[in-house]
Amino acid sequence: MTFLPIQIKSVTVGEVNIPLKAPFRTALRTVHALYALVVVIETHNGLKGYGEATATAVITGDLLGSMRAALDLIAPRLIGRDLRDFNALLRTIHQAARHHNSVKAALEIALFDLRAQQFGVPLYQLLGGGDPQIKTDVTISVNDQDAMVAAAVDAVSQGFDSLKIKVGGQSWQDDVHSVVAIYRAVGRHVALRLDANQGWTAKQAVQVMRGLDAAGLVVELLEQPVNARDLAGLKFVTDNTLTPVVADESVFDAHDALQILSTNSANLINVKLMKTGGISGAIEVIQLARLFQRPVMMSCMLEGVISVTAAAHLAVAHDDVVQYCDLDGPYLCDRQVVDGGMTQQGSWITLADAPGLGITAVHGWTNTKVYDV
Ligand code: MG
Repeated sequence: MTFLPIQIKSVTVGEVNIPLKAPFRTALRTVHALYALVVVIETHNGLKGYGEATATAVITGDLLGSMRAALDLIAPRLIGRDLRDFNALLRTIHQAARHHNSVKAALEIALFDLRAQQFGVPLYQLLGGGDPQIKTDVTISVNDQDAMVAAAVDAVSQGFDSLKIKVGGQSWQDDVHSVVAIYRAVGRHVALRLDANQGWTAKQAVQVMRGLDAAGLVVELLEQPVNARDLAGLKFVTDNTLTPVVADESVFDAHDALQILSTNSANLINVKLMKTGGISGAIEVIQLARLFQRPVMMSCMLEGVISVTAAAHLAVAHDDVVQYCDLDGPYLCDRQVVDGGMTQQGSWITLADAPGLGITAVHGWTNTKVYDV
């Protein structure tokens, strides 16, 4: 069986703005709504591939305007190209400019969506996956203690048995009190993951973990306790706590992951499409982790259904390595602006039995721009 040429006809970009159910607060930022770019790549035979990027300036450096400027550079280079020349298309995206990882991710997600549609299978099957279900945690934002406990109790009542608690945004002593209070409210059967988003020093991080230890808590994971560039501090924390330490902001791509894993500076890596510049770079990090016999966490920024669905397909396809998922972006949104894609019941995400990502439409996008011949 041979495939006929599939020419890329156009790339359309637009913006969506989705209010959150509650403000999203970490040690780095407070956000009230999700702003995302949606990219649709259309082929001459009528296939539409969907991609999405969010501008997480404090982590990736991406802004809505810089993402659109990068698209002005990259999108025209895809027009008229053959989808079958897939790896060359990916190289075109990545060689066009340094950085701009989130917008590269959006374009890659749309191209992978198209490629799976070309073969008539869901993306996870194209990537070699079998079981279309995975489990995610849900984020508990930094807040005063009572509000954090209430959010945690609510999440458990919604069916979540794993909480990612944001810490590092108040004093480390307050962090200890909040986490202990949440533990007492939700009980032992709920897994607690802490994410300090770089908010502590290495010594504070060790003090917090010892404080929690003394209170009888077992913390499942501790994410990015110290500044992204403080690899010595990250290693100090890793060496001085029994809780597995996850590198998030310290690791964007496989080069960063190699440095962390080969020096035992963290126990595992948090993989996000907005950091790796898309699916191909995320696969490189996953394969590297497999080589080091380490698990990864598949995670998202504050992202909507399109890019989180792509991350879920990737997680499902590599579930031997992806042992933790933090894919709660869509759940945190007050409403959805696309049809199709992943569905969620409590902590369980299920992928559609449809070609590609299974996304069929986007609603209410603004400031659209079309790149074509
Ligand atoms: Mg994180």
